[in-house]
Amino acid sequence: MNIILLGPPGAGKGTQAQRLVERHGMRQLSTGDMLRAAVKAGTPTGLEAKAVMERGELVSDEIVSALIGDELDAMGPSVGAIFDGYPRTAAQAESLDAILAGRGRKLDHVVELEVNEDALVERITGRFTCATCGKGYHDKFEQPKVPGVCDKCGGTEFKRRPDDNAETVRTRMAEYRAKTAPILPIYEARGIVAKVDGMAEMDDVTAAIEAALKS
Ligand code: ADP
Ligand code: ADP
Ligand code: ZN
Repeated sequence: MNIILLGPPGAGKGTQAQRLVERHGMRQLSTGDMLRAAVKAGTPTGLEAKAVMERGELVSDEIVSALIGDELDAMGPSVGAIFDGYPRTAAQAESLDAILAGRGRKLDHVVELEVNEDALVERITGRFTCATCGKGYHDKFEQPKVPGVCDKCGGTEFKRRPDDNAETVRTRMAEYRAKTAPILPIYEARGIVAKVDGMAEMDDVTAAIEAALKS
């Protein structure tokens, strides 16, 4: 199964993708994570992407589609893919079709996480992740069970993203509205979009996604 999780920054895509990975052995393909790894490693892609990401604007379609193609090639053909944060433009949606077709895959579901934008700034400014395993947390909504210790791996170091600040978030929301939301009709026309209430409790969002994937 190949699915897209679609929604603005802070909608819960990464959180829900991590849960699907654990439950179904699918693979999360997050272009944001791939780009952050490239920035950290100082690759040419990373050098090009860094300033764009810091401004909250979109990195070029060519770069992200190449990252996705490479990642799919590195996966077993029977492992399902969860696209998280990709595609974000009409051009990327078109590339994804070609990338999947070229690898004998097809898109089964697009899950749209519907959220109230006013809540997203709070979600994003409170977000942090385990520096060791990447598990996501939130200051108010999902603290580690033992303070300072990752539930998943026992790690004790956590990090916050430089672009998770109130100003950059507004640019990222504007980018989402202008460039990403308009790709939904492409998938609606194919009858593969499931709308899920992203404002619900995390467990309820997971249950709603699971139900949508069975239909
Ligand atoms: P995205 O990947 O869409 O940008 P995340 O999954 O990283 O979003 O979620 C953003 C922040 O909001 C995280 O800190 C996460 O713990 C928190 N969060 C995710 N889903 C919910 C939810 N349903 N209710 C409250 N907080 C949530
Ligand atoms: P969030 O889900 O919180 O918006 P991501 O981790 O998905 O954050 O993305 C962080 C940043 O990386 C984006 O603001 C953008 O600069 C860049 N980025 C990630 N994915 C893409 C993509 N598919 N196309 C263009 N830029 C991207
Ligand atoms: Zn961890």
